[in-house]
Amino acid sequence: MSSIIQLLPDHVANQIAAGEVVQRPASVVKELLENAVDAKATDIKLIIKDAGKSLVQVIDNGVGMTVTDARLCFARHATSKIRQAEDLFSLGTKGFRGEALASIAAIAHMEMKTKQDQDELGTHIVIEGSKFVSQEVAVLPKGTSFAVKNLFFNIPARRNFLKSDTVEFRHVMDEFQRVALAHPNIHFSFYHNGSELYNLPAAGYRQRIVGIMSGKTNEKLVPVSEETDIISIQGFVCKPEFAKKNRGEQFFFVNDRFIKSGYLHHAVMAAYDGLLKDGSQPSYFLYLQVPPNTIDINIHPTKTEIKFDDESALYAILRASIKHSLGQFNVAPVLDFDRDSNLDTPYHYKDMEAETPTIQVDGTFNPFTDDKTNQHYSKAGSGSGSGSYSSGSSSSSSYSGSGSSSSYSGYSKRVEPTASWESLYVGLDTENPEAIESSPFTFENEEVTSSLFNDDEIEQSTQKTYQIHKKYIVSPIKSGMVIVDQHRAHQRILYEQFLLNMTVNQASSQQLLFPLDLFYSATEMKLIEELKPSLETTGFVFDESKTDHIVVSGIPVNITESEVSLVIEQLLSDLQDGIPASSYSQNDTIAKSMAKSLAVKTGSYLTEKEQDNLVNGLFACKDPNISPFQKPTFITMRVEDIDKKFAL
Ligand code: ADP
Ligand code: MG
Repeated sequence: MSSIIQLLPDHVANQIAAGEVVQRPASVVKELLENAVDAKATDIKLIIKDAGKSLVQVIDNGVGMTVTDARLCFARHATSKIRQAEDLFSLGTKGFRGEALASIAAIAHMEMKTKQDQDELGTHIVIEGSKFVSQEVAVLPKGTSFAVKNLFFNIPARRNFLKSDTVEFRHVMDEFQRVALAHPNIHFSFYHNGSELYNLPAAGYRQRIVGIMSGKTNEKLVPVSEETDIISIQGFVCKPEFAKKNRGEQFFFVNDRFIKSGYLHHAVMAAYDGLLKDGSQPSYFLYLQVPPNTIDINIHPTKTEIKFDDESALYAILRASIKHSLGQFNVAPVLDFDRDSNLDTPYHYKDMEAETPTIQVDGTFNPFTDDKTNQHYSKAGSGSGSGSYSSGSSSSSSYSGSGSSSSYSGYSKRVEPTASWESLYVGLDTENPEAIESSPFTFENEEVTSSLFNDDEIEQSTQKTYQIHKKYIVSPIKSGMVIVDQHRAHQRILYEQFLLNMTVNQASSQQLLFPLDLFYSATEMKLIEELKPSLETTGFVFDESKTDHIVVSGIPVNITESEVSLVIEQLLSDLQDGIPASSYSQNDTIAKSMAKSLAVKTGSYLTEKEQDNLVNGLFACKDPNISPFQKPTFITMRVEDIDKKFAL
């Protein structure tokens, strides 16, 4: 039988290799920027069009290439950066594989102009899908320019695989920021579709970080500095009170290369132990230098993980030095051992005034507010001014939509107020059978809306709700009792409220006396710009925004001024993977996100009146059974179930 093995032609091999190196426009950006840094450029320009899909161009003033090198650089495994295997252990450059240019040239239209300082003339080469189209001598400035057009022109499947411009742009932005943060001594500028996004003069670390993030970053930074035999650490961490909802601003650089390390991240978090609100994330910009022979630099071109020789020592040093910095700059709170933490007001509520909740389930009738109960509530209410449930409840327009039900049995036979209600829930899975099955209690899906509460019982008793473990509200009902999860219930209430406002587009807003200036990074600003129209339908009013901050002059009636930045941060964090395309799902995402940030938390004490409003509010909802995140909001327990337990 004849032999069947053949060597693949170069252009095929390059195309296959390209699959690994070039996944998206951002990969091209990374490779070209790193080449420019390796070429010792002091000025690097990045120009992209359509999130890099139609053009990625990098212009540098580095060492340039000779005519021979200019041609050779497109060959596979052609590199000037290592000559022998040992060089791998003393590597000082980003690249060393000699793969990037060959790979990019295989799958795009590429144009290169390059000239060395000492040469009169430079070289201009056009290469498309690995084929040299032209090579000319040209009058050029010192340095190199690579323009990559029509990425994946010959691999339609890959081209179709690319995400929306918003998502691809975000990836490009990430790569740009990583390289620019790693090299503050280089002047970087960045243009997208003709507009300048960044112009960062050569500077120190602090100035570069502030330049990339936003004007307000400076005051948040605490310097970290440590020199030992095995590692040097420079950089900044942010003060705990500025911790964010998402992990967007966390950067490790090892020997000027951006890396990700769950292990080192853990060390940072350990240093913040006890200083952060639950789930919040500190920003950090940490520059580590280690001897090149103590790390495994054989990193896959698209990977950012790295292996250290002595990880546990690095962990300890990093944690200790950050802890020291946080302490030295007096950002750790004074410990007070006599303090009763039960008296603490939860974070999100501490700045708020204690308002009386005014959720109105139906406009005209409420069986619980006869004279007797009113007296009782006002007493109970005045003794417990925690205000913890004041957030979503101050809206007067809250339930106007469903408020047309006008009797106690309104819980059961709610009048559908407008046809648009139906449109609010297209695609929402209301059944959620799994959750029902997994519940140890009977889930009275149908019955709950039918005369859930026993009239007699409620009339007799002044208190009909109890809060247990600052988490559940228990209330007797005709068939037994209902147990409501306060957090999920409030999420449901707020979610419907926001969605309704957005759909009918008549949210009322409260004018702020002093407009709020909120600072964001360029990426975040871009997202906010796109979200503005939807946010405005919830009641936000924005004044003309600047490049690095927005000016909020009006806010929805059911949120407080101090919650605004929290709400927007949560929203940005929920939109990490891009903005949903349809306006329906965009509204849905925003409503969910706002409900998530504003809902009363587990652990918050609720007054009887607040408990009451919450329960009533929930059962006035279109879909009281589940939270916007498809979790059960309440369970019921029948008397028979309780009887059974006692029969054991
Ligand atoms: P690597 O960076 O791994 O060496 P590349 O394919 O990215 O591989 O680049 C191949 C070679 O082309 C580099 O080693 C370098 O000599 C040369 N080169 C690439 N970009 C530039 C540039 N901007 N300026 C000068 N030389 C460059
Ligand atoms: Mg390279």
